[in-house]
Amino acid sequence: MDGRTIQLYGRIILRGDIRALSGLHIGTSKDTVGIGEVDLPVIRDAYRRPYVPGSSLKGKMRSQWEKLKGVQQNQQIGRVEGKEVWIHACEDLACPVCTIYGVTGDFAKDAPTRLAVRDVPLKPESLEGTTAILYSEVKWEVAIDRVTSAASPRQMERVPAGAVFSPMELVFSVYKAADRARFGDVLTGLQLVADDYLGGQGSRGSGKVAFEDLSVTLKTGDEYREETHPSFSHKSLEELIAARAELLKWIEEHIAVNGGA
Ligand SMILES: [Zn+2]
Repeated sequence: MDGRTIQLYGRIILRGDIRALSGLHIGTSKDTVGIGEVDLPVIRDAYRRPYVPGSSLKGKMRSQWEKLKGVQQNQQIGRVEGKEVWIHACEDLACPVCTIYGVTGDFAKDAPTRLAVRDVPLKPESLEGTTAILYSEVKWEVAIDRVTSAASPRQMERVPAGAVFSPMELVFSVYKAADRARFGDVLTGLQLVADDYLGGQGSRGSGKVAFEDLSVTLKTGDEYREETHPSFSHKSLEELIAARAELLKWIEEHIAVNGGA
């Protein structure tokens, strides 16, 4: 059997907060509803608090990035609230989508997925003093059956506007020299989500979010030492994107990659 060497040159860690600017509905994959439950509940963690699954944020960044790059969505990976979810996947080693966001096991890659996104817990104090019960509000909406045109009212649970989820943590691993510049694409991915929406029902006004109080940290070298830079700490997404060239230069100077692209 052939062995292979994967060299980790360093990691770029982006931390910050997610603030809901409108009600946020991140649903669950369950399709049965118990008595006394709303029709479309939000996903909750083991402490019964709503949270933002890392897979939801990463999946949304990916789908927005796929649309920006105009790549074919060729793999069905499941269903969310009855809707099929399709993603793009390919074997191109330079693919701007698969390199950062990964592929399913059917496709071979020379290095692991670059981006990992952690689950983001709710900061309960962000909803203190509001009328939210169990950190959520219930919104009535009318669903129209596309075949019969029958209208059926249903209840959708949302985390109210003003909720803050923290800490958000995105970890980007550098395996190739070219990966360092690809971190800029992660910032673009967040901007695409901020301009679209997170979770479900975005076309009905849910899911507008802002990424706030962002800090970029590097871990690199034999000691895997953490490095920070005041220019890239406690910034808004817009400020980081405005400083993109300077930020990528700092990353290139600090994460040394020996040979090859
Ligand atoms: Zn691809």
